[in-house]
Amino acid sequence: MLLGDGFIFRQMVCLFAVAAIEQGVVCAQSEAISLPEPAPITLRSAASSPVAGVRDSPRLLPPEPSARLREAARLQLPQYRMNIDLDTDVGLVHVEETVRWKNPGPVSTRSLVFHVVPNNKPDEQTLAIAERTVESLRLDPRKTIDKDGQRFHLESVESGGQHLQSHFDPEADTHLHIQLSQEVLPGQSVEVTLKFNLDLPPNQGRLGQHKGVTNLLNWYPILAAYSDQGWDAVPYIPWHQPWLNEAGIYTVRLRLSPGQEAATGGHVVARSLDATGHSILDIEGYGLRDFTIVASDRFEVYETVSNGTPIRVLAFPEHQGHARLCLQIAAECIEQYSDWFGPYPYQEFELVESYFGWNGNESSGLVMIDERILDVPQLAGRYVEHLVSHEICHQWWYSAVGTDGYREPWVDEGLAQWLTRFRMEEKYGQDAEVLDLPGGSNWGLPNIHYRSLVHSGYALYSSRGGDGKTLASLDDLGHIHNLFFLVYDKGARVVGMIQHRLGRERFFGFLRLLYSEYKFRILRADDFQRLLEAYSGESWEQFFDDWLRSGRTCDWKIANVDTVQEGDKFRTIARVVQQGDISEPVEVALHLAPGSNSAADTIVEAMPGISGFADRQWNDSNSRQIDETTWEFSFLTDRPPKQVEIDPEGWVIDQSPSNNDWKRDIKVRYSPLYTPLDEASMIQLFEKPSIVFGPGFDNEGRIGLRGSFIASNVFRVSPFLAYTTETNNENLALGVDSVFYNAPWPNWQLGLRYEHSILTNIANDPGDQAKLYARKILAYTTSLIRPDLSYFDLYARIGDNFFPDADTSPMAPPGVDDYRNIRAFGATFHADTRIPYWNPRSGFLFDANYEHGFVAFGDGQTYDRVDGQFSVVQGLPEGHGYFSETRVAARVAAGYGWSDNGEHFRFGGPGRFRGRHSDETEGNAFWLTSLEYRFPLTGELDLEVVDNLAALRSISGSIFYDVGESFLFDKSQGGVDQAIGGGLYFDLPLLSFVENLTFRIEYGRSLKRDTGVFWFGLYHAF
Ligand SMILES: [Zn+2]
Repeated sequence: MLLGDGFIFRQMVCLFAVAAIEQGVVCAQSEAISLPEPAPITLRSAASSPVAGVRDSPRLLPPEPSARLREAARLQLPQYRMNIDLDTDVGLVHVEETVRWKNPGPVSTRSLVFHVVPNNKPDEQTLAIAERTVESLRLDPRKTIDKDGQRFHLESVESGGQHLQSHFDPEADTHLHIQLSQEVLPGQSVEVTLKFNLDLPPNQGRLGQHKGVTNLLNWYPILAAYSDQGWDAVPYIPWHQPWLNEAGIYTVRLRLSPGQEAATGGHVVARSLDATGHSILDIEGYGLRDFTIVASDRFEVYETVSNGTPIRVLAFPEHQGHARLCLQIAAECIEQYSDWFGPYPYQEFELVESYFGWNGNESSGLVMIDERILDVPQLAGRYVEHLVSHEICHQWWYSAVGTDGYREPWVDEGLAQWLTRFRMEEKYGQDAEVLDLPGGSNWGLPNIHYRSLVHSGYALYSSRGGDGKTLASLDDLGHIHNLFFLVYDKGARVVGMIQHRLGRERFFGFLRLLYSEYKFRILRADDFQRLLEAYSGESWEQFFDDWLRSGRTCDWKIANVDTVQEGDKFRTIARVVQQGDISEPVEVALHLAPGSNSAADTIVEAMPGISGFADRQWNDSNSRQIDETTWEFSFLTDRPPKQVEIDPEGWVIDQSPSNNDWKRDIKVRYSPLYTPLDEASMIQLFEKPSIVFGPGFDNEGRIGLRGSFIASNVFRVSPFLAYTTETNNENLALGVDSVFYNAPWPNWQLGLRYEHSILTNIANDPGDQAKLYARKILAYTTSLIRPDLSYFDLYARIGDNFFPDADTSPMAPPGVDDYRNIRAFGATFHADTRIPYWNPRSGFLFDANYEHGFVAFGDGQTYDRVDGQFSVVQGLPEGHGYFSETRVAARVAAGYGWSDNGEHFRFGGPGRFRGRHSDETEGNAFWLTSLEYRFPLTGELDLEVVDNLAALRSISGSIFYDVGESFLFDKSQGGVDQAIGGGLYFDLPLLSFVENLTFRIEYGRSLKRDTGVFWFGLYHAF
């Protein structure tokens, strides 16, 4: 499975990783694997499916089923015979399932244990995690999470006509125990028949129906694995894929409602219509790890054949472009992976579009791709390729070769993610760009770098002090983001380092051995290591301990480089030092000044231990170990060195890659339209500092010139010249804002912002604003735009007024202090539990601030002020139709400042009393309370613009009531005022699933003053 990650983006990592983690890429067209032309693609719609008694064309019949059966019999795989009646019209599934199991030994048993995922009822804690998970996928939790669960209803269990006792484990409600009438000894078989039904929830996800698509994943009782100690039923975790079971032999009869087309992991051997127009599919599958069904009447079907394997893509008509791309990628992957690992394990392959939320999901013989992936702009086709390549790779690793997805998700995800990267880079070049933008890279448009896409997660995690293990269970990992950081991202690079040490040919030789040994069995990490040791003839214990069973790090650094002339040649000696725990062997590259002769411009020398390097050695260079942590590389060349670089191809995980170059290599890019996106780390070259500059706008909407010097996860320094017309006045300011991430400690930030107003038409003098802060982040957001969920700030500042923008209010009357000169320090606390952030249904928001002003350097004023705001939002209870879609929000806010003759607070504004302008009323104290009712105005619109770079998904409205009072000299400024108003909120998904923006228009009318104000902004006021 691939998901993206969201934590990432706030520090700007994440465009696509947000979803899934299976991504795609780039540009160099070097050494593309040459593949035979795929067979012609044919298209048919579901409506033209074969009907009544017409069998599929002979080429779709499984080759040699008897041979496959013999192999399955040799492996003693469990056999599942299922009669499935899937009524998609009413959302019910009736099933009779007969399971034959042969005890593989060595212990006997008197029970069978099945996993039954749909019997799960999520608890409160699980639901809370699930809500944040789907929020990071930009999905509405209400449409995605089945809070009720318990969709499985067992009718009977029998064996040989005899009723059997069964019960669900009270501690694990997905574990079904069936008591047998007698002991099953090693080598003996038992057969049981279960009758059950499922009622399908109206949800996206593994089990459910959404927009005419029915998903049945991990949906029927499947035998737990059987080990030396008997049954080994792993716990159910509602995220990722905690599966551990044997491959099985499936014989299925599936009855479908009229008009439905289904994709399943098996192979359809016969198809007919019954008298009522229902389709009857007879399906077989050998060595399937699961049996997934996706059904809909909306599919169009695209077909081809690769390497003798029939391939079908089932997708909605509106996604024909990406569907054809998927078909082509599937054909390439099946050819290539068969070559790399061994033959594709099943009779056919299907890829089906569906609604389940995360980006891609693998099942045996079948890959599901989320609708939002096929809905990304055409220019993001390489991302689709990355994702599809990853999921198809799971046909070998996860499906044919089974894994313990609960205890060791690394075994298949690490392999799939690494092999995907390797495939993408062989095809498109090292660290290519993911988006196929108009004008290519010539126009300087921000693009996503492939390595940043797949690897920035671990860099982010590690920069925040994360040191978890890659070989960890889902419970150890705790949530989907850690899984992404440690298992996919770091885990993939660990597999890459195995390839690096072995060399390409031996690595793929090893994978072929692994596949042939473990096909239709279960591969554990220990088996992986043992076979690797047998294959390579050396111990890998230290490597596995270092990289997988600990959080140890590697950090190579160039200590120094000396060049001396030897005759007409140059001797360059580079010393590299290991500052981390692991001395993973690396190459060191010497780049030469361009010369006129034909000699190479780059010379690479390696440490011992990299067997793939042997044929690349250069005669006049060598490496030697000086002491425990230091290595010396010596090069003799006819030209002077230009650069020395550790690990030029980026094989090894390095804690601080910035010290891997002798001379700082800074990439400079001119952006024709600078936006906050240009500062995202995913836009920067992976592990390299960069400078970007150009005309455009900043994240406060000010236009001007801006540039940034960026080292991802380390710092960003951005000088700017910004023009704004805010508050009806023009202002041109010169300044710099900068952030140092994880400084001085992980999860802290140091920020400095300074600006000098150079042109302004307001009454007071042009002046300065500066703020220095230290922030402790308590909880990160997954949004790319919103502030972090929870943080605490300590700050100091100087400035010409209290407020972040120019103070355009008239000079204060005599006796009133409007604080045009500030020196102050203060503290801020922010906590936000509202979910989902783009249109919260529940949660609270709390902000508090204290500030103390003082006199220093001959200026400033003494004052104190404190203010806070607390708001809650709550959706109406379920079960009341339209009203259950609506929400009530309320808040209280107050502030008090002393001296009481000071203008400490603005009463009006978009985030305060919405009936007055910001600078209309300023005083030393205020109180405010609000009540707001929020309701949908439209259903789902899905109006896409510019090939779905953005879309309008829905519009909602609100009516609100604000009431409050402002004070000066502790006296009311005209008494209590009330505002009534309303708002419109436009739900705007960006790039399909990358971000959800809410654009707000509100109008508030002051009842006391009989004046109104329009507000425009992002997200809700509170
Ligand atoms: Zn995966």
